[in-house]
Amino acid sequence: MTIISKIKEELPNKAIEDIVYEGANIIVYTKDMKFLDKGKSKIKDIVDKVKKRIELRPDPTMLLDIEEAEEIIRKIVPKTAELGDIWFDYNRSIVYLESGKPGVVIGRNGRIIEEIKKKTRWVPIIKRSPAIKSDLVRSIRATLYKNSEYRRNFMHKIGEKIYQPYTKNKHYWIRLSFLGGAREVGRSAILLQTPNSRVLMDCGVNVASEINAYPKLEAPEFNIKELDAIVITHAHLDHSGFVPYLFKYGYRGPVYCTEPTRDIMTMLQLDYIDVMRKDGKEQIYSSTDIYEMIKHTVTFDYDEVNDITKDVRLTLHNAGHVLGSAMVHLNIGDGYHNMLYTGDFKYTNTRLLNKAHDTFQRLETIVMESTYSGPDDIQPKREESEKKFLDIIKATIEKEGKVLVPVLGVGRSQEIMLILEEAMNKGKIPKVPIIIDGMVWDVNAIHTTYPEFMNKKVKKDIFHKDHNPFLSDIFKRVVSNKDRDKITEEGGPTIITATSGMLTGGPSVYYLYKLAEDPRNALIFVSYQGEGSLGRKIQEGEKEVPVSVEGKSKIVKIKLNVYTIDGFSGHADRNELLNYLKKVTPKPKRAIFVHGEKSKSTKFSSVVHKTFSIETSTPRILDALRIR
Ligand code: ZN
Repeated sequence: MTIISKIKEELPNKAIEDIVYEGANIIVYTKDMKFLDKGKSKIKDIVDKVKKRIELRPDPTMLLDIEEAEEIIRKIVPKTAELGDIWFDYNRSIVYLESGKPGVVIGRNGRIIEEIKKKTRWVPIIKRSPAIKSDLVRSIRATLYKNSEYRRNFMHKIGEKIYQPYTKNKHYWIRLSFLGGAREVGRSAILLQTPNSRVLMDCGVNVASEINAYPKLEAPEFNIKELDAIVITHAHLDHSGFVPYLFKYGYRGPVYCTEPTRDIMTMLQLDYIDVMRKDGKEQIYSSTDIYEMIKHTVTFDYDEVNDITKDVRLTLHNAGHVLGSAMVHLNIGDGYHNMLYTGDFKYTNTRLLNKAHDTFQRLETIVMESTYSGPDDIQPKREESEKKFLDIIKATIEKEGKVLVPVLGVGRSQEIMLILEEAMNKGKIPKVPIIIDGMVWDVNAIHTTYPEFMNKKVKKDIFHKDHNPFLSDIFKRVVSNKDRDKITEEGGPTIITATSGMLTGGPSVYYLYKLAEDPRNALIFVSYQGEGSLGRKIQEGEKEVPVSVEGKSKIVKIKLNVYTIDGFSGHADRNELLNYLKKVTPKPKRAIFVHGEKSKSTKFSSVVHKTFSIETSTPRILDALRIR
């Protein structure tokens, strides 16, 4: 008997119009408006009995017409709530209200919500409207609600699969295959298999290199038709850049991640193929494939437990790396084995984010990133790095030079903005224009859309609009090469932050081309420079480098001063990695290291084995490891 028929038995027949799955949740649609009010306690009883989330909603046919509903909602909600966009998800009977002051919409004891429900029958969900409007966030939301009917069926099908019975006998096994990001940084992809499930964790590209750029999906155990789910830890392309490719080749299952990850990865993927087009290369997938991915994305909040297949239960936890970044905790086979895939993480608080989550109910295997696991990978304290950073800027400005800071659009750029904003306001550095170039603005807009994913201080600053650091007028936005020429050729000192962070494309390369030959200028690296990237070459001291500008490759002499400041990394350094293994609760029995250069990860693995007396390994690409 399915869980749906069990619930049907418990409810009065005429009250139910439809019962469907919404992923692992169960939704009861009713046309009986009395039952909609009075049935809540009955539903609660059933929830206690079946231990699943069940929600009661009016059947879509009972809803007030969309235009009328919008009119009524706008009348009911007080002006002070700063009501913005309203989105109707018709087939799920949900209306999303964007508001500058969500508390006002909710009203005392949810009074306004209740009134909306009563007068329109729609189920309102309140979302904070972003302080900076983003066309991208809008178009993502529009895609989701336009495909409301498709999504309802899609979520139902996921539920049907999840609730299929399975047997866990003594032959049960769990296996991980490393399809990318093993003994290397880039193209992260790990396939989890059990007798019942196939889940892909991350599916990235290596942006720094043309060889071995994509995960090894040709591995015999990978079959796109059998893949049940994809889980994405965070938006960086080395973790998410290959997902649309799977949609291009027919994958139509769910992609699980947080809301900010969905939005930021969409942006980065669109940019990724745009850069390919501009470079005259063949795009590996199209924007259609990206929008197909959005249609199939299912977002979870941190710490929310959800079944994603018959025998895999997923919880995403804060990873402290970039906005929305998550550690993936999997409870496999109803508690038979618990594993944590850290993704990229940071184990100290930053200006933007809290440090990674470290306490779990159960944990046996940890799969951990090891980007900065080498013996020399000890990052200085944040305060020291910030001071060094500001000192270089000050010195450069004093000799009328310009400062170029190539930044990853996501994460580092917002940290750098917060540092610069504070330093300039406090008079620690002279007031000069700060140029923000590349997709940083769009990323800022997404940050202001999801303040609840940031730490308390920034959240407070953003809610308090007058202090929103991302809206500060010290930041100047630049979009065209004409602007860039003006900034670099005329005018005095400036601070320029531009993407990409490894000088692999985007406006940072153009600025480098313009600024490289003036010894008064400074280039400051604040993030990881991938092997093979232009950034790495310059960092390692090459004095003449080929730079590709407007489709042509030119040799540029590096005469500006090159600095690397380590402390801003969004990754845990060696001490933090060790500290995490020490603090994580409960203590895992086995650690597997990924996402690190070969020499670092393998050595670190043996250090961890000796220090913590646990089993450790550093798999190679295409290795498969049985963890139970
Ligand atoms: Zn990352």
